[in-house]
Amino acid sequence: MVSRTIPVDTFDLVLFGATGDLATRKILPSLYRRFVAGQMPEDARIIGAARSELSDDGFRDEVRGAIDEFVSKDKHDASMIDAFCGQCSYIPIDAKGEGGWKELKASVRDDVVKAFYFSVGPSLFGPLAEKLRGHGIACDNSRLVVEKPFGTDQDTARKLNDDLAASFAETQIYRIDHFLGKETVQNLMAVRFANVLFEPLWNERYIDHVQITVAETVGVGGRGSYYDKSGAMRDMVQNHLMQLLCLTAMEPPNRYDADMLRDEKLKVIRALDPVDPRDVVRGQYKAGADPSYAEDAENPASKTESFVAMKVNISNWRWKHVPFYLRTGKRMSRRLSEIVIQFKETSHSIFDRDDASKANALTIRLQPDEGMDLSVTIKEPGPGGMRLVNVPLDMTFADALGPDGEEIPDAYERLIMDVMRGNQTLFMRGDEVEAAWAWTDPIIDGWEARGDKPASYSQGSSGPEEALALMHRDGRRWRDLED
Ligand code: NAP
Repeated sequence: MVSRTIPVDTFDLVLFGATGDLATRKILPSLYRRFVAGQMPEDARIIGAARSELSDDGFRDEVRGAIDEFVSKDKHDASMIDAFCGQCSYIPIDAKGEGGWKELKASVRDDVVKAFYFSVGPSLFGPLAEKLRGHGIACDNSRLVVEKPFGTDQDTARKLNDDLAASFAETQIYRIDHFLGKETVQNLMAVRFANVLFEPLWNERYIDHVQITVAETVGVGGRGSYYDKSGAMRDMVQNHLMQLLCLTAMEPPNRYDADMLRDEKLKVIRALDPVDPRDVVRGQYKAGADPSYAEDAENPASKTESFVAMKVNISNWRWKHVPFYLRTGKRMSRRLSEIVIQFKETSHSIFDRDDASKANALTIRLQPDEGMDLSVTIKEPGPGGMRLVNVPLDMTFADALGPDGEEIPDAYERLIMDVMRGNQTLFMRGDEVEAAWAWTDPIIDGWEARGDKPASYSQGSSGPEEALALMHRDGRRWRDLED
């Protein structure tokens, strides 16, 4: 396969929070991988910034450490690492202080793409934006990249939007949701809108329901006290699952264009019905092989959910009567993120229904093994008569691309390069984020007002029994995580 990696225009990327966990585990390794792939130009520069007093060489040592630990060994080429580190430098800056800004202004070039990545807590977004403008470092075509969480409710999200808008236009702001950088997510749009097969069936006439699952095997240990203020609803549903729901449910945009696509996603969020409290199940993992959620959160009285399952209805012509079931949780039996489009049964069967015939399902897997499969019913091969079996038409992207295919880039690699290209398609717009909070807030407020305590569930399970009942009472069932 011919490499289709085209270098982006040269850039200066100022990485605030360059010494932090996210920069070390994701951002710097992703940039290095793009460098190795030939996409990061040789005269592009990465300028790390944080309060720690580090020299350029001290920062380069940290970059080497990040590559060593978080990039696969087959990409450890000493001359490549030296060249990449040669493009990195560091300036100590406190986002709220006065030192370092002059040095930063002198360091960034005006005639290249200028991007500022805020890999710091959200309370620093406003002060950083203001300083960058005030010191004349950022200009009208500079780009800002901001990390999640973007607020904890609609009011805080609006305040963050206002703080950024005081110094930058919406077209300059790139709000990261790394789920959107997954190959599969873009393929969901390709499958829907570039094939004649699916779109005619993509509605309440042919689809019974949709399931979206993001299951993790890890607990919250290590960041338990932070997580305890958030919970699965804020940490996962309001952003990641909501984005997957929108991309599944949205109308075809007129063109594959950032604003047209985001307009369609926004319409979906606005069409979501308020959620009936009986349609939501919250859970907390209990002690098992590992400590309980409450122990991890260091809060024995915690009422925060590490699991949530819910039924969501979309009030529009396409989706009336098609429930979307969402679930996400920690310490579940398997790490799995997928969207399942469950089609209806055929309207009449000419075959004996005791056969293994099942309705078709299209499964879109985000992890592990990004890909899609479509289950179809066929005749079991052989002389055994007309016996039906379900088989998957499997398209795992890594296999489909073949042994000579290019490796699928990590979500962060794709998203950072999109920033450099000035492509906002896979980033959330401010009004989208606020609308998602406007839908989420009453659900959380209801729990808090009622003092609801989450149901407990066993580690390594698929969540509390109540979550199974949520679907059983509709005559449906969750896809087995182990399938
Ligand atoms: P972290 O490990 O605590 O790192 C924070 C970084 O910010 C450090 O480099 C710190 O360096 C710098 N910093 C703190 N206060 C500063 C100030 N006043 N001025 C300048 N720099 C300052 O946090 P993180 O996990 O990397 O997370 C960074 C952001 O990404 C957060 O918004 C987080 O919610 C988000 N995020 C993180 C992850 C993840 O997996 N870690 C995933 C998704 C989103 P100094 O102490 O040297 O200043």
